[in-house]
Amino acid sequence: MLDTLIADIAARMATAPDRGQVARYIPELAKVSPAHFGIAVVTADGREHVAGDADLSFSIQSVSKVFALVEALQAHGERVWQRVGREPSGSAFNSIIQLELEQGRPRNPFINAGAIAVTDLIAEGNEPREGIGAILRLVRSLAGDDTINVDGAVAYSEAATGFRNAALANYMRSFGMIAGPVETTLQVYFHQCAIAMSCRQLARAGRFLMHAGRCPTSGKPIVSPERARRIAALMLTCGHYDASGEFAFEVGLPAKSGVGGGILAIAPGRASIAVWSPGLSPQGNSLLGTKALEELSRAMGWNVFNPPPAC
Ligand code: GLU
Repeated sequence: MLDTLIADIAARMATAPDRGQVARYIPELAKVSPAHFGIAVVTADGREHVAGDADLSFSIQSVSKVFALVEALQAHGERVWQRVGREPSGSAFNSIIQLELEQGRPRNPFINAGAIAVTDLIAEGNEPREGIGAILRLVRSLAGDDTINVDGAVAYSEAATGFRNAALANYMRSFGMIAGPVETTLQVYFHQCAIAMSCRQLARAGRFLMHAGRCPTSGKPIVSPERARRIAALMLTCGHYDASGEFAFEVGLPAKSGVGGGILAIAPGRASIAVWSPGLSPQGNSLLGTKALEELSRAMGWNVFNPPPAC
């Protein structure tokens, strides 16, 4: 049933006339065709269901903020929450307005300012390549795939044009909210956003969140059940920027989007899902990826308000 359902969804999305706009502010992302659509679903029994361009790599962009948060929590524990809050921002992903009003402490780890503050903790005392290496090692081990890498052209393209992110980082530095050096923190941030993965790899990397923080193969904890719950709560409330409420309303699953057009969504106890379509809504979330998740979650009855019987 699931295979037929996602094949139908992929077929519909492949021909959808309204596909949104690919991100243009990062020149390398502007080159990606909006024609792509891919979906991968790993269910709790370990089975993989894929359709469309599920094995094509794309730039995961802000989906990386979930992995960076895991890495920072593992390395620094609760100290992370001194740097960043846990409230939805209701503002655009790259907004600077709240930072002044709230003394440089970003609202949450999934807006750009918050993610840069989290990455600063990972970068602290390290060369950029060590910080990038730590995030990449985590992503590879979660996905069980050592071929995953950073797309150097995307990282370079964002570094060459990332004036807003540089402004956010410098502004936070002025409040002492990031320890800097700003250049190092930004290098790590741009490279983590430029990690390239397919839907299949991304859905595999999200499996620990469907299993309350446990590695699906060894059963060992990657994060505690409480931490997995908290990360999922942030994904539900903050994972789609100023469209997070709408996403929770329509889909009802913890999820994180990226301007590369990818979305990682978790149906706790049931599935880890990755979708990719590069055209974005005005809020910077994949237009068809969101539509596909609406259709899938509705058809399967997968939402956090309708938990599986075993949970
Ligand atoms: N690298 C992007 C930026 O900082 C991430 C934004 C996103 O994916 O939402 O602008």
